[in-house]
Amino acid sequence: MDFAWTPDERRMKAAAVAFGRERLAFDVVTLDAEGTFNREGWHRLASFGAAGFPIPRRYGGAEHPVPITAQALEGLGYGCADNGLLFALGAHLWACALPILLFGTEAQKERYLPALARGEMLGGHAMTEPEAGSDVAALQTTATRKGEGYVLQGRKVFVTNGPVADVLLVFATVDASRGRDGLTAFLVERGQPGLHVERTVPKMGLRTASMGELRLDDCEVPASNRLGEEGGGLALFSQMMEYERGLILAPALGAMERTLERCIRRARERQQFGRPIGGFQAISSKLVEMKLRLETARGLLYRFAWLKQQGRSAMFEASLVKLHVSESWVQTSLEAVQLHGGLGYLTETELEREVRDALGSRIFSGTSELQRELVARSMGL
Ligand SMILES: Cc1cc2nc3c(=O)[nH]c(=O)nc-3n(C[C@H](O)[C@H](O)[C@H](O)COP(=O)(O)OP(=O)(O)OC[C@H]3O[C@@H](n4cnc5c(N)ncnc54)[C@H](O)[C@@H]3O)c2cc1C
Repeated sequence: MDFAWTPDERRMKAAAVAFGRERLAFDVVTLDAEGTFNREGWHRLASFGAAGFPIPRRYGGAEHPVPITAQALEGLGYGCADNGLLFALGAHLWACALPILLFGTEAQKERYLPALARGEMLGGHAMTEPEAGSDVAALQTTATRKGEGYVLQGRKVFVTNGPVADVLLVFATVDASRGRDGLTAFLVERGQPGLHVERTVPKMGLRTASMGELRLDDCEVPASNRLGEEGGGLALFSQMMEYERGLILAPALGAMERTLERCIRRARERQQFGRPIGGFQAISSKLVEMKLRLETARGLLYRFAWLKQQGRSAMFEASLVKLHVSESWVQTSLEAVQLHGGLGYLTETELEREVRDALGSRIFSGTSELQRELVARSMGL
């Protein structure tokens, strides 16, 4: 067992931290209040290669091994305070570009991956529906065969990047009577007749990532836009969720470290009752717990990255990562507000935004309750 970072991993993280600090130093308070997609940030992330971190070089990506991708994402999360922008990146990478890489035909890879990897196209996925949230197999969007293609019909909600995406991975059923065996994935491009963005949905946090509700109304797609086999949608979704649950919160490790360092500074500098507040055990204990959460989150996330780099299945580990990192991020952000007292409650100190951003992570990519169910099942319960 070797816990040391390789020189490449260290270099990548340092470069990502520096890039985040220098090129992604936005006025996030204003962007958050406006609640619009940080497109300038997206272009800059793309110029750093982030839109194609795990994509092979022959498709225009950086071809980083999984642990280096994770290090780069953690570094960006540390250097850049715009959690929403990095969430949009995660949705693009893990729920669109990666499934195309894993399941696409050569023609699909050549059509989409270079543009996605260069950030000229932004991706996302549309699985959730008004009546199908945690229970994805209950989805009602239909894909009916017509000639050489399919006609998609249905509604999708909570679609990250939905209003601004150039290509979406849309899940539908080719035969509702087959239940989960009918689920099938399709690539639907922006501007495709029948794909309508009903509205951009305002939300609590991660507000620089755009979220939309979509309607598919007689949306005709050629069979060449089906990703994977007919009926193979659930298996595809599970594999993409394995990566998403394992890696979408890598930037949150950086955010947690950034918050912890800020709290340590404050605990040293803020004097009350004639001494630094860090001298009170109630405060220092919070900092110790923050550190413990950060290091255990790192352990789980990088073990996941290592397993995937070995080509091994890591479904169970992915659920543990998702559950632990999201809960840790929420707890650390809440404690940071408390430790800063009244200042923590002010919008301008940017700590309350961290709480709002973190809370979303307990819901997307499968809620914390669902992850607990999955972990329990994998333990034979
Ligand atoms: C910020 C954000 C981004 C998102 N991005 C996308 C996206 O890009 N694409 C997309 O398709 N979807 C996206 N979603 C939707 C997300 O995947 C769903 O919100 C999530 O799966 C939960 O579904 P639901 O909201 O319908 O809640 P429900 O499934 O109705 O759950 C409600 C409550 O019941 C609990 N519950 C449900 N089933 C069980 C169970 N078996 N055991 C225990 N408790 C259970 C849940 O944990 C939750 O607390 C996003 C959501 C958020 C918040």
